[in-house]
Amino acid sequence: MSDAPNRQPMTDGLLSALIDRLGTDHVVTDTSDMVPYVQEQRRLYSGRALAVVLPACTDDVAFIVEQCREHGVNIVPQGGNTGLVGGGVPHDSVVVALGRMNRIRDIDPTNATLTVEAGCILQVVQDAARDAGRLFPLSLAAEGSCQIGGNLATNAGGINVLRYGNARDLVLGLEVVLADGRVMNGLTALRKNNTGYDMKQLFIGSEGTLGIITAAVLKLFPLPRGTATALVGCDSPHQILALYDQLRSQLSDTLTAFELLPHFAMDAVLTHVQGTRAPFDQDYASYALIELTTPDADLDLNARLESALADAFENDVIRDAVIATSSTQSQALWRLRESVAEAQIAEGASIKHDISVPVSRLADFIEKADAACRSILPECRICAFGHVGDGNLHYNVSQPCDMDADAFIDLTPRFNRAVHDLVADMNGSISAEHGIGISKRTELRRYQDPVALAMMERIKTALDPQGLFNPGKLL
Ligand SMILES: Cc1cc2nc3c(=O)[nH]c(=O)nc-3n(C[C@H](O)[C@H](O)[C@H](O)COP(=O)(O)OP(=O)(O)OC[C@H]3O[C@@H](n4cnc5c(N)ncnc54)[C@H](O)[C@@H]3O)c2cc1C
Repeated sequence: MSDAPNRQPMTDGLLSALIDRLGTDHVVTDTSDMVPYVQEQRRLYSGRALAVVLPACTDDVAFIVEQCREHGVNIVPQGGNTGLVGGGVPHDSVVVALGRMNRIRDIDPTNATLTVEAGCILQVVQDAARDAGRLFPLSLAAEGSCQIGGNLATNAGGINVLRYGNARDLVLGLEVVLADGRVMNGLTALRKNNTGYDMKQLFIGSEGTLGIITAAVLKLFPLPRGTATALVGCDSPHQILALYDQLRSQLSDTLTAFELLPHFAMDAVLTHVQGTRAPFDQDYASYALIELTTPDADLDLNARLESALADAFENDVIRDAVIATSSTQSQALWRLRESVAEAQIAEGASIKHDISVPVSRLADFIEKADAACRSILPECRICAFGHVGDGNLHYNVSQPCDMDADAFIDLTPRFNRAVHDLVADMNGSISAEHGIGISKRTELRRYQDPVALAMMERIKTALDPQGLFNPGKLL
């Protein structure tokens, strides 16, 4: 599919129709007021909006879509604008920002469902579930500002995928405004529903290219009543994988998170992030942060984790371990993991890959990818961290200490080729989280199965024949 079609500028007719409907306060045209909507957080991507419109309800969204279609103006749906791949950045489009659509429409603890509008902040959704004595398990570092509509549009992952799945697995129903202005009312709260194609799944992960998600029915789970957190030190990613395998068998679904940190990441965090403390007296090549949770208040998770780690120690799988004895200690361990991205920035420029491979291939992947990257630049520093249980790594390459950052970034195509070719060889994915947006469009064309790609293009044409929604993204 080609780049964004050349469409019409904003006309007085369109502007006055939008203002008549939404009021001047909710149609932003001042350039400086539009700044937060036209660039993403890291400022890697920025663009230009014809206007930013703030609908209050689904009918408003349908009205905006009809008007923009009539006037030949493109639309970029936007949530919290925390995406990192340029997907929500407009290029001479109208931005439909969903933040005012933030009502919790319904909560049904017995059915274990929550019906929310797309503009609800993820943390607000989590809190609403907790207030009803339930868990909404989607959790990621941007949860204080990203919106559930954006989470669904990008099929967000996060730290609990191992136990609960991606955003895709947490949805029972969706309401979506289509490119012709009609509303697909799929807000069913059913666990069983075999009535043909599962239309909602088309929109989840579609990055705003097929429709505007306006509401969703989300699945809830029992609240955890017990938690255990540990950090372990190992000699290699192979040992980390062996530990994961053992814990998954011994601890089953209580294993909620299993995160990998290499020595480089731990060192960078301890060097650059204030208030962090070394967990062990000596350094290890690889670390795993492990969390167990259970809704059973009588289950002694610390004892189970201690016993499993003792087995691992006896079998020479791990070298050291610390189990948190308080929630403060648990938070301190999580801080080590959650500060990796921040610490890596302090280490200079980095070339990032967000990949997944089958879990069983993860350690092999790291070994081979490290060798491939070092053959390009022997002094590069590799920061492969992430969600072992999902086979998902943030395989980031940091610049050598004494290299010019621009010269390093110029090597991006070579690193991308090396890492993504290896991912393809292992039947993995070049985009495990975050989506394709602008940043991985070319790589998608290179690595996606051509039949699947052709089907995606046909679906886009069928649902959005004028190319109204989010042109130039994903496809
Ligand atoms: C600090 C940080 C940590 C992160 N951690 C993770 C992580 O662990 N896992 C992960 O998967 N991602 C992570 N992300 C990226 C992640 O994609 C977003 O944080 C989040 O899911 C996007 O939500 P948003 O509301 O900000 O969407 P936006 O950034 O506003 O939009 C993202 C995309 O979705 C589309 N979109 C937004 N709302 C709608 C809607 N209502 N209907 C249709 N399309 C829509 C946009 O057009 C755009 O293409 C992280 C980002 C940051 C900044």
